[in-house]
Amino acid sequence: MAENEDKIKKITEALLAGGKMLGVHCGKCKSPLFEFEGKVVCPLCGELEQDRQLKEKAKEDVLSRVDRVLHSKLESLVEKLEKEEDPTKTLQLIEAIRTTLQALERAKK
Ligand SMILES: [Zn+2]
Repeated sequence: MAENEDKIKKITEALLAGGKMLGVHCGKCKSPLFEFEGKVVCPLCGELEQDRQLKEKAKEDVLSRVDRVLHSKLESLVEKLEKEEDPTKTLQLIEAIRTTLQALERAKK
């Protein structure tokens, strides 16, 4: 079949271009995936796998940013709590710290 020939041709081209064949297959077309300069590429679908990896990485970045922001908020809240002498404000700060700690726990999961 012409379709299959085209598939073999594209996979061969990927190999000849210096791609490293990986032990994983494309979830869409079952073609073996190739590694080009650190990017995972499907010779038939293009850079779909790379897109997915980038999205996963972007998600990780957001989570680590949330984690970082929450930690710095927590630090400033604790600092304020140390200096606070007003009982009402102290309770508010404790509540804010508790909520921030809960958010941090959730961000880890
Ligand atoms: Zn594919």
